[in-house]
Amino acid sequence: MFIDEIAARMARTDGVARAADLLAAGARRSDLRRCCAAGQLHRLREGVYALPTALEDVRTAAVHGGALACVSALRRHGVWVLDADGVHVWLGGKGRRHAHPQCACVGHWDAGAARPGVVSVARALVQLAGCQGAEAFFVAYESAWRLGKLTGRARAWIRDHLDAGMRYLVDIARPDADSGLESLVRLRLGRLGISLRAQVPIEGVGTVDFILDGRIILEVDGRENHDGESKRHRDLGRDARALALGYIPLRFDYAQVLYEWSIVEAAILGARETLGRRSLRPVVGATRRV
Ligand SMILES: [Zn+2]
Ligand SMILES: [Zn+2]
Repeated sequence: MFIDEIAARMARTDGVARAADLLAAGARRSDLRRCCAAGQLHRLREGVYALPTALEDVRTAAVHGGALACVSALRRHGVWVLDADGVHVWLGGKGRRHAHPQCACVGHWDAGAARPGVVSVARALVQLAGCQGAEAFFVAYESAWRLGKLTGRARAWIRDHLDAGMRYLVDIARPDADSGLESLVRLRLGRLGISLRAQVPIEGVGTVDFILDGRIILEVDGRENHDGESKRHRDLGRDARALALGYIPLRFDYAQVLYEWSIVEAAILGARETLGRRSLRPVVGATRRV
């Protein structure tokens, strides 16, 4: 078998394959040796090969003994995920971990037979739920759905394979979340009984990130902010105009929303209380469009 045929076959499994599968497809051991000698194939470990183009984390998973899985696989599929350490590897129900230098892999042993490569989005989502919890699952699930990576059948399969206590997450998920941040904030606010709308245009203010309960504006500065003083100047103006219209603007940075939610939540609840009190008085001259 020529390298072109071997490469085409391996491309279907993300550039990595077991020798047994290549031999079963018609390659000979001498073909594999010849390709390795020419640098067209890399031998990762006994019986596992990679194309030179195979991605680093896919190789690591294959060296470790399985397929790229869970959060690592979702990242590879282009799905938005919360931060997580390590290369997550599916070893199959009875798979064996292979020692290798600088191993910081996180093993998964859910049932099935793992082959080198990248697990499907649906399987990776179920793995993520068990590994990283409800919030990590929910944001990734909504992202995958929005990206068109989940068919109705896949969504049903995921629901069936989740722990019973997590199935409600599939039931409340939506296919139109603008960002992972929106998914996360909506899930957390939903637990408090607070409704949310994302990317809402307000005349005189501009398009705001989120409106809560129709009156509280929640703005979240991006992961990276290089705008400095001019952005701060603009934001102060926006907040002042929002207040003048009867909204309560709250502004946090991305890390605060992700990692210091208790502060954000306390501010939102405080703003609701303030609004409750304020609604006892007539507001003169305020135009509300929400
Ligand atoms: Zn994991
Ligand atoms: Zn490892």
